[in-house]
Amino acid sequence: MELIDGNQVATAIIAELKQEVAAFAGRKPCIALVRVGEDPASVSYVRKKEKTAAEIGVTSRIILPPVTITQAELCRLIDDLNADDTVDGILVQSPLPKPINEVAVFRRVAPGKDVDGFNTINLGKVAQEDDTGFVSCTPAGIMELLARSGTDLKGKHVVVLGRSLIVGKPVALLALQKRAGANGTVTICHSATANLPAITRQADVLIAAIGRAEFVTADMVKPGAVVIDVGINRVPDATKKTGYRLTGDVHFSSVAPLCSKITPVPGGVGPMTVAMLMKNTVKAFRLRAAH
Ligand code: NDP
Repeated sequence: MELIDGNQVATAIIAELKQEVAAFAGRKPCIALVRVGEDPASVSYVRKKEKTAAEIGVTSRIILPPVTITQAELCRLIDDLNADDTVDGILVQSPLPKPINEVAVFRRVAPGKDVDGFNTINLGKVAQEDDTGFVSCTPAGIMELLARSGTDLKGKHVVVLGRSLIVGKPVALLALQKRAGANGTVTICHSATANLPAITRQADVLIAAIGRAEFVTADMVKPGAVVIDVGINRVPDATKKTGYRLTGDVHFSSVAPLCSKITPVPGGVGPMTVAMLMKNTVKAFRLRAAH
């Protein structure tokens, strides 16, 4: 069994980006990080994004509206960032407070600055296999991990657990694309799927993104499969200072011995998401500079 080390791959991507950004004369790429409210997970994600941006030489502009911001106010804030020539990428940290319609906010971000890839245009470009768009960061990170660990999806049965707009659907579309490294035969499962273990057992490559701690057990995995665990779940653990531990959607200790390759949690897909956000930001800068 080979462990796919997301930290190592992300570090390599960050080093590549740092070199690329150092070569830009004048203004450096800039990402606006919008975090509404004080959700603890969002605070730590945005901090990590800010730190990685600084490491690469990307400028970050942190915008922290209060949890009471209205939909209209948030849309105005995004309009201002869309119009600001010194901003290349805009990230609105999810989840947003309940009264706010998240998809409407994602749609408001100008497609050319949508480095999170959640705008309708960019999701459409994934379906159209159009490289001028931005692929959302977690699915892009999964594809990069597969590619850099030498996993070609051609002719493989790829089973995706989960159909969210953020992970399941776009990663399924990417695995399906008619291009080198992809060309998978894809099945997507969700909460209404019947006989789920019978389907996951057919997977040559299993991508688990359902948000259920240790849901995928050894009896659900074909020996020799490649398993990508996207889940990040907090499980109460009295032995930890924080009172919880992080676990994936896969029961690692029983599944790992069966696999040819597997990602750990933490240290698998997680670090890739931030690296791909930075890659998209640098791409946005390049595309805007070309116009
Ligand atoms: P969502 O909650 O948006 O989607 C979960 C999906 O899983 C849904 O499609 C749901 O089905 C399906 N599902 C839930 N329970 C079951 C079940 N018992 N059997 C089959 N399918 C089920 O989650 P996300 O896609 O946003 O995230 C998934 C996981 O990935 C979470 O743990 C999240 O924290 C993590 N994550 C990690 C990231 C990273 O950087 N590593 C980034 C983003 C997410 P239905 O549609 O029918 O409701």
